[in-house]
Amino acid sequence: MSENQNRPFWEAKSLEEMSKEEWESLCDGCGKCCLVLLEDEETGDIWETDIACKLFDCTSRRCTDYDNRQKTVPGCVQLTPENISGLKWMPETCAYRLLDQGQPLPEWHPLVTGDPTSTLKAGQATPTTLFSEKKISKKNFESRSTQVRVRG
Ligand code: SF4
Ligand code: SF4
Repeated sequence: MSENQNRPFWEAKSLEEMSKEEWESLCDGCGKCCLVLLEDEETGDIWETDIACKLFDCTSRRCTDYDNRQKTVPGCVQLTPENISGLKWMPETCAYRLLDQGQPLPEWHPLVTGDPTSTLKAGQATPTTLFSEKKISKKNFESRSTQVRVRG
């Protein structure tokens, strides 16, 4: 048996080599990439808000129309092995980002723990107290900016 056959797929394969199922299973369900981000036009700085995308279910932390999401939310970027390295605003804990950077999955990742709730248990999931983009006026977005400066 080769060394690679003893290792889990996320260590043995490159992102490009993964099957669709393997690729999808990398998502830890944190929901952080579904937060509305604000960009400072002058500095280019990007700030997180506590506002969630209009398609985001803040309780289940799932997209409510995943298959058609880009028709409703054109700004929702479909992650691929080719574009992930350019998406500097993706959360630092995101499995796609980590693997693309040659880093291991965090110890709390569901693939590592075998527990689908381990992201939540580790305090890595978005809170259920987020505001939905559907319920908040765009002119108030700025006031919902958090102190978290995102990479970018
Ligand atoms: S940040 Fe990454 S791991 Fe978290 S929900 Fe988005 S794609 Fe999944
Ligand atoms: S469209 Fe769906 S996947 Fe995309 S940011 Fe919104 S909730 Fe997240």
